[in-house]
Amino acid sequence: TKDIAKIEPDYVRSFQFENKLLPLTWVVVRIDGCHFHRFSDVHEFEKPNDEQALKLMNSCAVAVLKEFEDVHFAYGVSDEYSFVLQKESELYKRQSSKIISAIASFFTSTYVMKWGDFFPQKELKYSPSFDGRAVCYPTYKILLDYLAWRQVDCHINNQYNTCFWMLVKSGKTKTQSQDYLKGTQTREKNELLSRQFGIEYNSLPLIFRMGSSVFRLKEAVAVENRVVSGKKLKGEVVVDHCNIIEHSFWEEHPHILS
Ligand code: ATP
Ligand code: ATP
Ligand code: MG
Ligand code: MG
Ligand code: MG
Ligand code: MG
Repeated sequence: TKDIAKIEPDYVRSFQFENKLLPLTWVVVRIDGCHFHRFSDVHEFEKPNDEQALKLMNSCAVAVLKEFEDVHFAYGVSDEYSFVLQKESELYKRQSSKIISAIASFFTSTYVMKWGDFFPQKELKYSPSFDGRAVCYPTYKILLDYLAWRQVDCHINNQYNTCFWMLVKSGKTKTQSQDYLKGTQTREKNELLSRQFGIEYNSLPLIFRMGSSVFRLKEAVAVENRVVSGKKLKGEVVVDHCNIIEHSFWEEHPHILS
């Protein structure tokens, strides 16, 4: 048998490669549900938007902000969430695999733990999982562009899905509905909803149209009477459905990221 004492730890470790995220950049960890098309089918999510499922996602994101102080902002839509770390973060010495795996696994286990709070009548049929990736954004402007891109995606998908499911619910097959919508512009989709189904797109709930943003209130607001063993807790974590494409949101909340 092999003499274990002869294995040099440095030699074994030398196979691990460095995976440090660029210093002083905003790190965005985006997690996304694995095969949630199927997961949402099996668990009979309402289409196009199951509000309880979105609220469960939001609740998990709030838990992430409470667990990881360096996460200053999160934006979520559908089965995905983007978590933004402040640029000075030294979480796990900025090793990407550790940061991604810690956030994704914490989010996933929280999702399972809280399932019953949001779906008291529905059994969780199997273990969901989320994949994750990390991207560094070197400037504040590019970071805001990233977040705007996710919200634009939310708009486009939600509008398409709202039309698609209205057509399906009105008796068309999925293929017919797809063909019907092929090549249509935003305005045409809004007209379809309004003329055929009497739905004003802009009156649909904000949580569907805007996605969800999670952040801490400015510390000064929340710090009062929140003293735990002499240590001040950071501001209260809130969920909002604001327009983060418009720069006015960021100008009004400079404490979040800049
Ligand atoms: P992948 O593993 O590649 O991410 P996926 O099946 O998860 O595959 P996505 O592009 O991530 O594909 O899309 C997620 C899908 O999950 C949506 O298309 C939608 O069908 C479903 N879904 C997620 N959240 C909800 C929700 N709140 N209400 C209804 N359906 C949802
Ligand atoms: P880190 O977050 O850095 O991994 P850690 O507290 O998880 O910190 P580890 O070096 O991973 O530290 O060690 C795991 C610790 O968990 C062990 O030191 C032991 O105290 C405890 N532990 C794990 N599994 C068992 C087990 N089966 N029985 C008893 N204790 C366990
Ligand atoms: Mg994916
Ligand atoms: Mg997915
Ligand atoms: Mg997705
Ligand atoms: Mg450990």
